[in-house]
Amino acid sequence: MNVKEWTQQLIKPAEIEKYLINGKDFIDERSIFEDLEKYKNPDKQQVRDILKKSLDIKLLTPAETAILLNVDDAELLEEMQETALAVKKKVYDNRIVFFAPLYCSNLCVNGCVYCGFRSDNCSEKRHVLSMEEVRRETEAVIDEGHKRLIAVYGEHPQSDADYIVNSMETIYATKRDTPSGNGFNNIRRVNVNAAPMSIADLRKLWRAGIGTYQVFQETYHRERYAEVHPANTVKGDYRWRLYAMHRAMDAGIDDVATAALFGLYDWRFEVMGLIHHAHDLERQFGIGPHTISFPRMQPALGSFMSENSPYLVSDDACRHLVTVLRLAVPYAGLIVTARESADLRREIIKYGCTQTDASSKIGIGAYSAKKVQQDNADKVQFMLGDERSLDEVVRELAEDGHITSFCTAGYRCGRTGDKIMNLLGKGIEGKFCKLNAVLTFREYLNDYASPETRQWGEKLIAKELREIENTPFFTDKKLLSTFQTYYKRIASGERDLYM
Ligand code: SAM
Ligand code: SF4
Repeated sequence: MNVKEWTQQLIKPAEIEKYLINGKDFIDERSIFEDLEKYKNPDKQQVRDILKKSLDIKLLTPAETAILLNVDDAELLEEMQETALAVKKKVYDNRIVFFAPLYCSNLCVNGCVYCGFRSDNCSEKRHVLSMEEVRRETEAVIDEGHKRLIAVYGEHPQSDADYIVNSMETIYATKRDTPSGNGFNNIRRVNVNAAPMSIADLRKLWRAGIGTYQVFQETYHRERYAEVHPANTVKGDYRWRLYAMHRAMDAGIDDVATAALFGLYDWRFEVMGLIHHAHDLERQFGIGPHTISFPRMQPALGSFMSENSPYLVSDDACRHLVTVLRLAVPYAGLIVTARESADLRREIIKYGCTQTDASSKIGIGAYSAKKVQQDNADKVQFMLGDERSLDEVVRELAEDGHITSFCTAGYRCGRTGDKIMNLLGKGIEGKFCKLNAVLTFREYLNDYASPETRQWGEKLIAKELREIENTPFFTDKKLLSTFQTYYKRIASGERDLYM
């Protein structure tokens, strides 16, 4: 099958239509604009009532979200941030999960005007990693200390669902001896960011043990979507993308991740789109998004629009939108990526975000070649704002009292989908997260941390251990003794024990 034939058979109209309600999708632009207009200048009491609902870990309605998006009183915004922090603490405590992106291919049939991988960008050097290269990249990522990856792919027959499955299997099979020579380290969870697929293809990814499946809608605004995604490309089909997560759920993948690419259209509209998306997933499957990302558009090779869009999002707007997302979808993980500057990332982790990446390289083959992005500008998708190593970011967060977690237990213990949503809502998953965060942080400190990071880490881990010993949830449920045994075994060299 040639490239044209391959692209023509991708979209399955029946796998869009089955999710429509009375022929309509869940993005009703008129109602979004009306909500944003109707709730301008919100009343303080009304805002405070909504904050109470967030503290009960309930998904906010679009109208409530529109109210929060319209707050511009500095004092009230501060109150919202404080509540966001309380919500985060209740659901996720003080842990922050780390991952690394692994770009496997930059061949792409699409023409997204903001992306360095678009097919008409002749300056981009194209490459699809062989399985041997995937293995070498994975080794380099493991050697940084990572346990979770998000594998990223362009949309192309050379990186189709079978290629994705092969690369996932290769990543899972790659092992590295621990620095002490006792046991091995490996990647324990492979998430995937790839183009929307059919249910049959998604089932292949599910069988291969996918963690979370992530697709960014880019923009929920139809007209803008059509402007930046040429109509003669697969990606030009707005609804095929809009229902990517619905198909994933039908394929058995119940950890799904949504996002908009902030900067393509008005940021308030995009937040409303994300909320409607969460509601439709809850309505049709009883499960909302596992995580939400809010990537801001970064400069991309040869893309005028990536630096000149009229909708680029300021740092202040970014703070506001993170606060609102934290409050509106209290159970969802929020991901801030190395696209952002070090300072902003540090700040928004305090009150909103639960996951981040570090030591990230987004050039194809850049981990094993040890290339910084300037050496690799013709193989990257866009430029990152923060290229610091995992060790540096872990240390900074430890200084701020956040415990680094490489936990992958939830998914391996079957705590996914509606089960994890339930546990998150009741604050129970956060408790398991704490135990697993400490266990995986212990592994990291022993195997990879620099002496300076270890110093900060030991202080933090001692505090966490005291807290665990004094928390009735652990002592009453007899979790404490298992945890303490695992902790000792890990400290003396065993790996991958989780609860
Ligand atoms: N090709 C697949 C797709 O488009 O769904 C998946 C991978 S694509 C490499 C991952 C994401 O990168 C896109 O969904 C897009 O939101 C984001 N991206 C593209 N250009 C970007 C830019 N200039 N700045 C920041 N993110 C960008
Ligand atoms: Fe291809 Fe994805 Fe880039 Fe669009 S965003 S050009 S689909 S890699």
